[in-house]
Amino acid sequence: MDASEFRKRGKEVIDAIADYYENLDQVPPMAAVKPGYLYKLMPHEAPEDPESFDDIQKDIQTKIMPGITHWQSGNFFGWYPSNSSFPAMLGDMYSNMFDVIGFNWLCSPATTELETVVMDWLGKLLGLDKRFLSIKEDGTEGDGGGVIQGSASEAHIVAMLAAKEKALERIKADGSVSEDESDAMRHKMVAYFSDQTHSSGQKGTNIIGCKSRTIPTDGNFRLTKAALVTAIEEDKQAGLIPFFVCGTFGTTNTASIDDIPGIADVAAAEHLWYHIDAAYAGASLTCPEFRPLAVGIERADSFNFNPHKWMLTNFDCSAMWVASSTHLTNALGIHREYLPRVKGETAFVKDYRDWQVPLGRRFRALKLWFVMRMYGASGIRAHIREHVRQAKWLEQQLLTDGRFEIMVPVVFGLVVFRIKPSALATSGDVAVEESTVNAANINYSKHINADGRVFLVGTKLKGVDAVRAAIGSTIGKQENVELLLQVLKQSAADIISQQK
Ligand code: PLP
Repeated sequence: MDASEFRKRGKEVIDAIADYYENLDQVPPMAAVKPGYLYKLMPHEAPEDPESFDDIQKDIQTKIMPGITHWQSGNFFGWYPSNSSFPAMLGDMYSNMFDVIGFNWLCSPATTELETVVMDWLGKLLGLDKRFLSIKEDGTEGDGGGVIQGSASEAHIVAMLAAKEKALERIKADGSVSEDESDAMRHKMVAYFSDQTHSSGQKGTNIIGCKSRTIPTDGNFRLTKAALVTAIEEDKQAGLIPFFVCGTFGTTNTASIDDIPGIADVAAAEHLWYHIDAAYAGASLTCPEFRPLAVGIERADSFNFNPHKWMLTNFDCSAMWVASSTHLTNALGIHREYLPRVKGETAFVKDYRDWQVPLGRRFRALKLWFVMRMYGASGIRAHIREHVRQAKWLEQQLLTDGRFEIMVPVVFGLVVFRIKPSALATSGDVAVEESTVNAANINYSKHINADGRVFLVGTKLKGVDAVRAAIGSTIGKQENVELLLQVLKQSAADIISQQK
C-alpha cells in the first residue's frame, strides 16, 4: 500500500469509524455469538497472496462486528467504563504515524519530554501534591514524577518492585543482617491488601514473589487503619516483614474509598510503601469537589489512575506518579551499552524505560495531550459531573420505586443495588432466605442482559449478590440511563413474579 492508496483507504476507515459512533446506540451492546464462532468463519492459514482492502473491510462488517462487545455504547453499563474519544483517537493516529519506541530520551526526545509535560499537567489537574510532579516550581527537576503505564496492573507491579527495593535497602542499612541474609528475606516480605483490592494486587505479589495478606474490610467495604494495624502486628510476631500497602480510592466492586489518611499513618510508622490505586475514581479528582474524599493521598509513595477508564482517553493510558523515583529506577534500571542514557542539564530528561516493566513504549502522551487540549479542564470536569448526576438520578429512581435496595450510597458513576428481600417475599412469608434472595438477584442480572438493550454485570459483596451499573460512557446521555431504568424495572417485575 503506497501513500496515495493509504490516503484513500484511510478516509474510508475514518468514515466507517464516524458511522459506527453515530449508530452505536441502535445495536445491542453485547455480542450475540457463541464461543468459537469466529474460528468457524475463518480460513485456517494466513493468505499466501495479498488480499484486497475491500475484502477485509467486508469481513470487518460480517465477521468481526457480530462478535464485538460495544464498550463505547451509551447502553453499556458493565464493569467500569473504558472511555474513547475522537480527540484521543486523533492523537493516537499521530502516535501510529511516528511509531517510535520511546524507551529513553535519545529514542525520540519529544516522546519523553511530552510525557513529562502532560503528566505534570495532569497531576496539577487532579490537585496532586507537588512531590509527585517532575518539575519543581523553580524549574529544576524533582525526584518525583509521572509516567504513563499500560494499565493499573502494571502500576501495581512497578510500585511493589520499588517498595521491595526500598525495604531491602532499609534492612541492609540497619546492619543487623548480611547481604545474603537480606536477599533471603524477600520471601518474608508481606504486601497488604483488602478483600476489595483489585486482583492486580495479588497478581503483583505472585509476579514479584512475596507474600500477600488480604484484610477484611468494614461494613462499608473500606480498609481501616485498625484492621491494618492488627494484621501487621500479627505478621511481625510471626517474623514476617511488612513492606507494602495498597489503599484504594474507588474499589472495583462498589467504588468504596479506603481510610486513606489512616493507612498513611500506619505506612509512615511501619516504613511501608503506600500505593494508592484510584484506577477508576481518580478521574473524579479533576473536579475539586471530590478532593476532600482523597485527603491523605499527598502522603502516598505512589498514586495511579486510568484516564482510559473515565477520562476520555482510549486504552491504554494508565497515569502513575511516584513521590520519589529513586527506588523505582534502582529496581528497574539495567545498563547495557546499546541502551545509552542521556542525562542532560535540563529538567526534562527521563529514561522512562527505568519506570516500567517492558523496554519499548508507545507515544501515549500524545492522546492524553489531545484530550487535555481539546476538552480543556472544563470539558473533562463536565464529563465527570454529568455521569455522577446521572448515577445519582438512577439511585434516586430505584429508591423511589421501593423494590430495590442500594448497597452503597452513590458517590461517583457506579450504582450497586439488588432487588430487596421484602420485594421477593410472598404474602405470609416472614423472611425470605438469603440464598433465595441471592439466587433471584443472580437471575436478575442475567435477565437484564437477556433483554439485550443494555449490558451490566452482577457481583457478590460479602456473600450478598448484587447488580452493578457503571455509568460513564463518553457518548452516554440521560436517555441511555432512562432506558436502563426501564429495563431494570421490567426485569425486576419478571423476576418477582417468577418468585411468587
Ligand atoms: N484497580 C481497580 C480499582 C480497577 O477497578 C481495575 C479495573 O477495573 C484495575 C485496578 C485494573 O485496571 P487495568 O485493567 O488498567 O490493569
